[in-house]
Parts: sequence; structure tokens; C-alpha cells
Amino acid sequence: MPTRNYLFYALTNSVCSQCLIKVEAKIIFQDGCVYLVKHCPTHGREEVLIADDIEYYKQSLEFIKPGDMPLRFNTPIKIGEDFCPTRK
Ligand SMILES: [Zn+2]
Repeated sequence: MPTRNYLFYALTNSVCSQCLIKVEAKIIFQDGCVYLVKHCPTHGREEVLIADDIEYYKQSLEFIKPGDMPLRFNTPIKIGEDFCPTRK
């Protein structure tokens, strides 16, 4: 049986860089690198390099610290926090 040339790691959500709709995305390991692979029904497959070192990427997921609060919020929230960027 043929095998894929990448290792599936996780499923997540992202947005299409063309139309900004929310799309499912796979995080895969391939050739020592970590990629986000998105699929938009209109614009097709898009692959984004997110790390060039798999171990570094895995370690970064374990680094958890409480988020910093800005001293002053410059941009008011107008439309809502749950979906960004806004679909055009
Ligand atoms: Zn699209």
C-alpha cells in the first residue's frame, strides 16, 4: 500500500488568504518542516510553512504563559471577537 509523503499532526481552523472565509486546515510534518495545509472550496489548496524545525514547533506548543495585557487598547472592537478577519 502506498504511504503519504507527510505525517498528519493536527486539524485546526484557518482562513483562506484570498477570500478570508473560515476553512479547515491540517498541520502536517514534511521534510523536517511543519506546514499548515488549507483547502478553500473556491481557491483550492494552500500550503503555508509555519516552522522549519519539527522539534522546535512541538516544544513551542508546551510553552504556556499567561497573555500580556496591553497598557492601552488602541483599536476598539466593533464587530465582535469570535470571527476575525471579517468576511468580505
Ligand atoms: Zn478562498
